Amino acid sequence: MAELRFLGSGNAFSPPGRMHALTLLDDSILIDAPPTVLTQMHNFGVSPSQIRHLLITHWHADHCFGFPFLMLDRWKMGGMKGQLGTLQIHCRPGGRKRLTELCEIGFPGSLAEEIEERCSWNESESGELTPTDWIFERFPVRHTPETDPHGYKLVHKSGLSILHCGDSGPCEEIEQRARNSDIIILEMGVPDFVKSPHHHNPSDVAAFQIRHPHASVLVTHNFSKSHDSQVGFEIPELPEGILQVEDGDRLKISESGQFSLLRK
Ligand SMILES: [Zn+2]
Ligand SMILES: [Zn+2]
Repeated sequence: MAELRFLGSGNAFSPPGRMHALTLLDDSILIDAPPTVLTQMHNFGVSPSQIRHLLITHWHADHCFGFPFLMLDRWKMGGMKGQLGTLQIHCRPGGRKRLTELCEIGFPGSLAEEIEERCSWNESESGELTPTDWIFERFPVRHTPETDPHGYKLVHKSGLSILHCGDSGPCEEIEQRARNSDIIILEMGVPDFVKSPHHHNPSDVAAFQIRHPHASVLVTHNFSKSHDSQVGFEIPELPEGILQVEDGDRLKISESGQFSLLRK
């Protein structure tokens, strides 16, 4: 019925074996655009031209600096193959100006037409992701305030709900929505010795699961190395039931609401 693919699972430092966190829902809804977004899509056989919706969480570079590359690919490659539809970009008020300037910095004079003619912009806080079966609500989270940080609650017409927490530390806005969410994607950007209100560390994630035992908790934006890397921070021990995803993992959700994680 639905599928989440993790095209990257690392924090801003892109730890060994992990590229920047990047989540794809049902092959057409992309959450964020890290600098290596094209590499990450190509690594896992995803074509940029199949993306219909781009949801931006906040203005840190590991979440949005790939936008000019996405536009470049659509302009030069997707159009040539005749596959392109309109890309809908959902971001905070002011986001259109910011992302347009980023394109102009990256590829001066090249992308204005692509942005003007084949993108539509939605700066409202909720909406439908047509033609898919998903609707979204954007909500504020606790992260570096200058980045205007937000998460997304995605609700399928079947009632299934996914909470994507953006890149946040523990906060009431997440707590409220977690109570009636089925799948919760948490970012674990720092190890336990880092005390930052703007990120979850392993202890925060473990405590979160105790407060929300009904939900499936997936961890991404991980500070640790991947399981097959030799260097980097060790993967932390977390209570059973919390899934620390890796690049290429897929979460398949059946009609009956059962989840299964397929490892790369
Ligand atoms: Zn980040
Ligand atoms: Zn961030």
